[in-house]
Amino acid sequence: MSVHPRYPLLFSPLDIGVTKLKNRALMGSMHTGLEEAENGFAKQAAFFAERARNGVGMIITGGIPPNFEGGGRGSKLSEPHEVAEHRLVTDAVHAADPDVKICMQILHMGPLARTSECVAPSPVKSRIGAYMPNALTAEGIEKQIRDFANCAVLAKEAGYDGVEIIGSAGYLISTFLVEKTNRRTDEWGGSFENRMRFPIEIVRRVRKAVGPDFIIVFRISAMDMLQGGLAWEEVVALGKAIVAEGVNVVSTHFCWHEALVPTIATMVPRAAFTQVTGRLRKELGVPMITSNRINMPQVAEDVLARGDGDIVSMARPMLADSELVKKSFEGREDEINTCIACNQACLDHTFNGKLVSCLVNPRACHETELNYLPTNLPKNIAVVGAGPAGLAFSITAAERGHKVTLFEANDDIGGQFNLARKIPGKEEFDETIRYFRRKIALHGVDLRLNTRVDADALSGFDEVIVATGIEPRTPDIPGIDHPKVVGYMDAILGRKPIGKRVAIMGAGGIGFDVAELVSHAGVSAALDVDVFAREWGIDFRNHPRGGVTGVEPHVETSGREITLMQRKSDALGKTLGRTTGWTHRLSLQRRDVQMVGGVDYLKIDDEGLHTRVNGEPRLFDVDTIIVCAGQTSMRKLYDDLQARGVKAAIVGGAYEAAELDAKRAIDQACRLAAVV
Ligand code: FAD
Ligand code: NAP
Ligand code: SF4
Repeated sequence: MSVHPRYPLLFSPLDIGVTKLKNRALMGSMHTGLEEAENGFAKQAAFFAERARNGVGMIITGGIPPNFEGGGRGSKLSEPHEVAEHRLVTDAVHAADPDVKICMQILHMGPLARTSECVAPSPVKSRIGAYMPNALTAEGIEKQIRDFANCAVLAKEAGYDGVEIIGSAGYLISTFLVEKTNRRTDEWGGSFENRMRFPIEIVRRVRKAVGPDFIIVFRISAMDMLQGGLAWEEVVALGKAIVAEGVNVVSTHFCWHEALVPTIATMVPRAAFTQVTGRLRKELGVPMITSNRINMPQVAEDVLARGDGDIVSMARPMLADSELVKKSFEGREDEINTCIACNQACLDHTFNGKLVSCLVNPRACHETELNYLPTNLPKNIAVVGAGPAGLAFSITAAERGHKVTLFEANDDIGGQFNLARKIPGKEEFDETIRYFRRKIALHGVDLRLNTRVDADALSGFDEVIVATGIEPRTPDIPGIDHPKVVGYMDAILGRKPIGKRVAIMGAGGIGFDVAELVSHAGVSAALDVDVFAREWGIDFRNHPRGGVTGVEPHVETSGREITLMQRKSDALGKTLGRTTGWTHRLSLQRRDVQMVGGVDYLKIDDEGLHTRVNGEPRLFDVDTIIVCAGQTSMRKLYDDLQARGVKAAIVGGAYEAAELDAKRAIDQACRLAAVV
C-alpha cells in the first residue's frame, strides 16, 4: 500500500484486533436529533452514507439509549422490533463503502435523561439535569447492566460493526466513578475499586454477549474537569481494567457537560486536549481515539505524529464538510469548509431540542431535502455584497451552473466576518473566508472588489441578489457625535484610539465581543495551549483530580476599566449561544469587566456618559464610549430595484437585521441558491 505524501499517518490503516480500519479518520459521535425525527433513520442513512462515501474510516453514531430510563425521549434500542430501522443506516453505510466501519454509541444518560424515571447511583441532581435521579437498587443496577448487553446484541443484529459505550460526560457510567455523584456504601460505592465495578461489569457482559468478533469502544473520562474529579491513577486503573475485559479501542473524552471549562468552543486551541490521550496511550497499549478541536488534516496528522492518539475523531468538522477526508486525501485542503467551533447550529440546537445542522453548511442533517443540483436553466445573476450571505449564494449558484457576478464595495470579501475574526478566540472565522475565496475561484464567480453598485449599474442581469448586509445603529442620544464616542467597527479595526476607562453601550453578541477585545492583553488563548490552560485553570502536566482541582484561573488584562451596559434590566448575555454564553460571561468577569443592566442613556459630554441606572442618576466618567447598539438593514438598493421592476431577491442582514447571525444569513442564501 502506498504512503500518502502529505498525511502518511492519517491515511495509514490500523489493526484494532477485531478488524482493520482503512485509515485513522473517525467521524465522532454526535446526537443530531435525526434519531427522533420523522423518517429520521432514513435521513441518518443519507447523512452517514455521504460521509462514508467520502473517505472516513469509521463512524460512531449519535447516542442510543439501552432502555427508556437511559434517555426518556426519542429513540432507544432495547426491543427486537427496533432493529429494522437501524438496518437502514448500517446498510446504507456499508453500501457506500464496505470498508467503512460503523459503531453504534450506547448512551445511558443517567441523571441527564429527560424523564422523571431517570436513574443514578445516588440521588444527586446534576447542575444541568432536569430531574432528581432515582437511586438505583442493587437489582436496578443489575437491570442496567443487562440492558447494556442486550442493546449491544441488538446493535450487532442491526449490522453495526461494533458499539461505543460512553463512560464519560456526566452520563450514568461516569456518575458511578466520582464521589460527588456516587455516595453509595455498598459494593458499587466507596473505594475506587467499588466505584469502577459498574463499567467493568458492563464491558464484561457486553463482550460475553456479542462474542469476540465485534468492536467495543469505551469512551473514558480522561480529564473530567471536575473539582475533586478523577485522579490520573484512577483513570489509568479504569482504562487497564476495561481493556482486560475486552475493550478494543479506548476513546478519550474531556469534561463533564456541567464542568466550567470550555473544551470544544472556538476559544479552545486546536487539539488542546490530545496530550492527555498521549499520556494514557502509553499506559494502556490499545489503539486510542483522541478528539476535540481537530478540524483540519494537518492538525490530525500532527496529533498522530506526536503519538497523542492512533485514531483522530472529528465530529463537528464532518458536519461542516462531508468531504473533509476525501479533500484531504486529494490535496484539496483549501476547499475544506472548516468547522469554526461556533456551536451555533450544532450543540446549541441539541441543547435547545432542535435538529442539528451547521452554520457554515446548512445541508448538514438535511441531505435528503437540501441539494444543490446542476441547473437546466443557467442565468446571468448579479450578487451585491460579499459578506457571508452574498458569498454563500454566489458559490452555490455558480456551482449549480449559473453565471455569477459578485460586487463588493470593500477591497476584500468577508463582510462582517472581517470584524469577527479580529476578536480573540474567533480566529477560526478566517477559515470560512479562505473557503469562500477558494470556491469563488473554483466556480468562476466574477468578483468585482472595490465596486459599490447602485440600481443603475445592475441592468442586463436576469436576476439580482441583494446581500448588502447591515449598518450599525446610531442611538439618538444628545452628544452621540462627541469625540469620545467610537463605533464598534472603528474600535475593532483599530481606526480610533480607545482610552483607559471605557463604556460599551449595548451588550449583544457584538458588545460582548468588543469587551473581550478591549479587555484583552497578550496572546489569544485560542492560539496557545499554555495561555488557555492558565486562563481556565487547567493543569495538563500534573493532572490534579479532574485536571482542575485547586488550580486558580489567571487572566492577563489590558488594565482598562470597562463597563458593559444595556437598557434591559435582565442579566447581561442572555442572547448569547446556549452552550457558549457562559464562557463569554465568565471570561469577562475574570477580566473585571463590570456588567450593568437597566441603563437609560441621557447624554454624552466631556464628563462622560450620563445615565439613570434603575432610576438612579449615574455618571460613567469614561474616556471612550463604544457603541454596539445593534444594527439596521441596508435595504435601499433592493427597494430601488423593486421600484424599477428589476427581478431581485434579498438575503442576510439586508433582509432582516433583527436577531441576524451568520447562521441565518448563510442558511437563507444557500436555500435560495438551491432553487434559483
Ligand atoms: P455583511 O456581513 O454585513 O456583508 C454585507 C456586504 O455587502 C459587506 O461586505 C458590504 O461592504 C457589502 N455592500 C453593502 N452595500 C454594497 C453595495 N451597494 N455594493 C457593493 N457591496 C456592498 N455571527 C454569528 O453567527 N456568529 C458570530 O460569532 C458572530 N460574531 C460576530 C462578531 C462581530 C464583531 C461582528 C461585527 C459580527 C459577528 N457576527 C456573528 C454577525 C455576522 O458577521 C453577520 O450576521 C453576517 O456577517 C451577516 O452577513 P451578510 O452577508 O448579511 O452581511
Ligand atoms: P444584538 O444582539 O441585537 O444586541 C444589540 C444591543 O444593543 C443590545 O444589548 C440592545 O440592548 C442594545 N440596543 C438596541 N437598540 C438600542 C438603542 N436604540 N440604543 C442603545 N442600545 C440599544 O446585536 P449585535 O450585538 O449588534 O449583534 C448583531 C448580531 O450578530 C446578533 O444578532 C448576533 O446574533 C450576532 N453575533 C453573534 C455572536 C455570537 O457569539 N454568536 C457574536 C457577535 C455577534 P438594550 O436594548 O437592552 O439596550
Ligand atoms: Fe462547527 Fe459551528 Fe458548524 Fe457546529 S455549527 S459544526 S461548531 S461550524
